[in-house]
Amino acid sequence: MTNLFIFNTDFRLRDNPALYHAAENGESLVAMFINNPKKWQSHNESDLKIAFQIENLKNISKRLTELNISFKVIHAEGIGEENQKVIEFVKSNNINEVFINKEYGINEINRDQNLEKELIDLNKKLNSFDSSVFHPESIKTQSDTFFKVFTPFSRAFRSKLLTKKIEVLGLPKKQKHKTQESDEVENISLNAERKKTLELYRAGEEYALGKLDEFIAQKILMYKEKRDFPAIDGTSSLSPYLSSGVLSSKQCLFEVFEKLSEEEEGVKTWVNEIIWREFYKYILFHNQRVSKNLSFSEKYDEFPWSDNKVHFIAWSNGETGVPIIDAAMRQLNSTGWMHNRLRMIVAMYLSKNLLIDWRKGEKYFMQNLIDADFASNNGGWQWSASTGVDAAPYFRIFNPITQSEKFDKKGDFIKKWVPEISSVKNIHDPSTDERNDLGYSNHLVDLKESRKKAIEVFSSFQNKEK
Ligand SMILES: Cc1cc2nc3c(=O)[nH]c(=O)nc-3n(C[C@H](O)[C@H](O)[C@H](O)COP(=O)(O)OP(=O)(O)OC[C@H]3O[C@@H](n4cnc5c(N)ncnc54)[C@H](O)[C@@H]3O)c2cc1C
Repeated sequence: MTNLFIFNTDFRLRDNPALYHAAENGESLVAMFINNPKKWQSHNESDLKIAFQIENLKNISKRLTELNISFKVIHAEGIGEENQKVIEFVKSNNINEVFINKEYGINEINRDQNLEKELIDLNKKLNSFDSSVFHPESIKTQSDTFFKVFTPFSRAFRSKLLTKKIEVLGLPKKQKHKTQESDEVENISLNAERKKTLELYRAGEEYALGKLDEFIAQKILMYKEKRDFPAIDGTSSLSPYLSSGVLSSKQCLFEVFEKLSEEEEGVKTWVNEIIWREFYKYILFHNQRVSKNLSFSEKYDEFPWSDNKVHFIAWSNGETGVPIIDAAMRQLNSTGWMHNRLRMIVAMYLSKNLLIDWRKGEKYFMQNLIDADFASNNGGWQWSASTGVDAAPYFRIFNPITQSEKFDKKGDFIKKWVPEISSVKNIHDPSTDERNDLGYSNHLVDLKESRKKAIEVFSSFQNKEK
């Protein structure tokens, strides 16, 4: 009676429903990882994130040995080949039942439905579990449609939290027999700089849980006041762990509510961010356009995005001449992470001032973030580009200089990442002379003019409602 569990985006042992239930009967269990570089490439998965997941898997595979669970690595060429490889394994290893946690992307949903059918043909069963806080089907409007606006969604979410106590699962049960030798997971090849970046993020769910505890004990109460300032370490920095499933949203909510009251403003605000994360997963589940590289709002299907490659490269490299944008992009390129306030600023600048297709920015983020998460990234980009659900109104365009003055008042963040201008008088927008002297680029576009143009183009699309 050997069961098979397959890792998807859930690189943890605790609160892992599929793994937990696969281990229930206590006989023997194989935990499998599918090494699939072709799929990662086609999904624009960042090498940094995959390397981080591998580090977490190394940690997990040691713990699995203690639990008598075999760890196996199989290889597939693209998502289309995964089921074939799994079925071959099931047949040749006399697997009893297969256990997975659900993923919500359209390709993944199709893959899992096919796997279920193929297993039924073999007289075997696929057990799929949901590792989100609430299954997307369980939160609906009164007219039984899905929510498209965050605030009523979060209200419904919170009222469910009141009626249904959050429960988290413990470690999977130790198995009687270990049926096979465990495999080693191969490292992802990273260049020296990316390797150094990876060292910034310690792997392991114990570490992640400790980081969560520390945040709750020391920072959460001041989260509301501090979360918007990129020079301050005021947020949890848990996104790399949440995105790779080293930590679950449920674990976060459980730990917070165990220790603090939701009446605390800091707690309320942070929980709201976890709900945003769940909201974007919910949107991915309910709207297939998101998986199909289309804007949520159909009226923007024919939008005349600019194809200015010079602007895009300058944005990517942090050479736009707008200090806060350049600092943010250099933070991303150097650390694989960017502060939330800055993500909004650089995304709006790209999609509004430069009028470059938000999908290009989305892809760049996917390829470079350690916390790249398809649903949250797509949601954040479409919010900023005004093409998404409950998005920023198209006419409310952040002025990056004003944002910089407000959220990096003393310019500490800019000075760290754009040191060449640290001595200038107006750090938020150096004068032309200072720029020339220091070799710092001038603005790619005039901020006022480009804002005006963006509003004009966007407003001409407002009556194209489909
Ligand atoms: C254009 C854009 C792209 C983004 N891409 C990603 C991405 O690829 N992966 C990702 O995890 N987040 C993404 N975000 C959301 C957010 O910026 C990060 O989750 C946050 O900066 C992570 O830092 P933290 O862990 O310190 O967050 P905290 O402020 O401590 O928040 C706690 C957790 O809540 C979740 N969260 C916070 N803000 C958001 C949000 N706006 N939307 C969804 N979830 C949120 C994250 O899981 C985060 O770890 C994006 C936002 C924008 C505007």
